[in-house]
Amino acid sequence: MRQWRFYTAKELRPQGWLRRQLEIQAAGLGGNLHKVWPDIRDSAWIGGKREGWERVPYWLDGFIPLAYLLQDEEMISTVKKYVDAILAAQQPDGWICPCPENKRAKYDTWAVQLISKTLTVYYECSGDARVPEALYRVLKNYCDLLKSGAIKLFRWGESRWFETFIALDFLYETYKEDWIKDLARILKQQGYDYRRAVDAWKKPSHVWRRKTHIVNIAMMLKSEAVSCELLGEPYTDRAEALREILDRYNGTAFDGFTGDEVLSGLDPTRGTELCAVVEQMYSYEHLFAYTGDRKWAERLERIAFNALPATLSEDMWTHQYVQMVNQIACRRTMLMAPFSTNGPEAHLFGLEPNFGCCTANFSQGWPKFALSAFMHRDDTILSAVMLPCELRDGGVSIRVETDYPFRNAARYIVDADRAFPFEIRIPSFAENVKVNGAPAPAENVRFSIAPGHTEIEIAFEASPAFIARPNGLSAVRAGSLLFSVPIEYDKKPREYVRFGVERKYPYCDYQLLPKTPWNYAFADSALTVCRPGAGETPFSRSAPPVTVTAQLQKINWGLKFPYRSVCRKTPKSKTPLGPPETVTLIPYGCAKLRMTEMPCLFMFKPRLSEMGNENEE
Ligand SMILES: [Zn+2]
Repeated sequence: MRQWRFYTAKELRPQGWLRRQLEIQAAGLGGNLHKVWPDIRDSAWIGGKREGWERVPYWLDGFIPLAYLLQDEEMISTVKKYVDAILAAQQPDGWICPCPENKRAKYDTWAVQLISKTLTVYYECSGDARVPEALYRVLKNYCDLLKSGAIKLFRWGESRWFETFIALDFLYETYKEDWIKDLARILKQQGYDYRRAVDAWKKPSHVWRRKTHIVNIAMMLKSEAVSCELLGEPYTDRAEALREILDRYNGTAFDGFTGDEVLSGLDPTRGTELCAVVEQMYSYEHLFAYTGDRKWAERLERIAFNALPATLSEDMWTHQYVQMVNQIACRRTMLMAPFSTNGPEAHLFGLEPNFGCCTANFSQGWPKFALSAFMHRDDTILSAVMLPCELRDGGVSIRVETDYPFRNAARYIVDADRAFPFEIRIPSFAENVKVNGAPAPAENVRFSIAPGHTEIEIAFEASPAFIARPNGLSAVRAGSLLFSVPIEYDKKPREYVRFGVERKYPYCDYQLLPKTPWNYAFADSALTVCRPGAGETPFSRSAPPVTVTAQLQKINWGLKFPYRSVCRKTPKSKTPLGPPETVTLIPYGCAKLRMTEMPCLFMFKPRLSEMGNENEE
């Protein structure tokens, strides 16, 4: 049974560093894509000639909650302009996508599934009374067409059938009609069952397939949680079993997986696509809401606080298609790309490096994360992720003052006109937990809030520690934050026009070329943390909100053949090349070029055979 329900942008107001992050997004590409990118500006969804499939719904899915969370009037009027045009083009039979009737059978209805989700998100933000009926007509028509055999699921619609359930759930709650359950069953029958794909996940392959496609898999993780109630099936925590296999064969230090863009194994120089970052976050938000199991919220934090900021430029005008955990350069490679199926520009920062899906889709990451700060069940309110935020639920207001995850403390200021149960999720890694100054176990804390004014103070510690990684490597983590050696770089911009799409400052392509050493190993187990807290740019390279000081030693790491700018999977030699150096590690999300997974010299005795043989492959 569903444990928690989401609040909406009507009830949540981000504060502190979270608000600044959303404002950076609004001032960057996320808030301006419709002005600069033809596929949004001139989309067939609004009567233009450009892409009329996934890009506008993807973009709106993040732009809408961003506009409403910030209460930005200009952005809200843009939302309305797009939604008005989309609703105005809905056909008498309910069909809503920009595709003529005689071409529907060949139109991949992934777009129907996606626009249904986006309209549901829009309704939750705006309460626009036109939406329930429009959605009813879209999905009733979809049901009729699928039932009659006029269309069927194929390609992306077959791979992503479960995305429809965000809208189906809302419709069933609103209308309680049986055809909604019929459509649920048809989608599942025609949709792909990823349990059949598991063997293919165990061996990275260079063959592009939907069943090993990282974005499909990231979306799929929530499928049972979002569909089992409507389908009348028991919940079996299938996501845990599947994620365990993904992690064992393709896991990353930030608790995601590699996919460039099919699953790519355990090498820290393989890529992870940005779409998969935001879709994993969305899956974990739903998995936590459905199960109430904090492991999903902790995984959500590790993706949100590490992988998401790492792959977006600080001004959020550019992004990478894929990020690497050990990213020593973002350089266009001349020969083949260091990825399975992505091109040589996929790890540059730019407007649409490699392909434009992430350009449209990345915007949902931060806003939907902000929408997961609080959740509720009956009259109980839960602080699901300790984020600076204000909740207004009827006569209850809860303001959270915190710099978490950069500092591990929060003050909850509650003003209530009623009594209610209140719960705060404490992460399992928390040490020395204190609630209002008194020691407490590292588990959820529960309060009976009385009407009036209440203040609650939470504090805990999260010491930095080494985590074991595959291939004999290690990484440093403190709480949800992963740490990296930052590599200084020269930024080489390139402005150009390709296929009618202009790349110009601030959304041109950037290569990042390293100018400080990266060939390090951990020399000592001592780690010292310092927490100055978040500045104007929360994930800033020049003013990182947390640092960890470590002792490192240079080694002959070596480059991956035949690249000049990709380090080897494991170092060529672990023999120190000089004395230990004190190096300041910064959060992974602050370091665009970084070394994260490195060997621990203090755990390994260099073998004799490695001495003096540093030129051997
Ligand atoms: Zn993408």
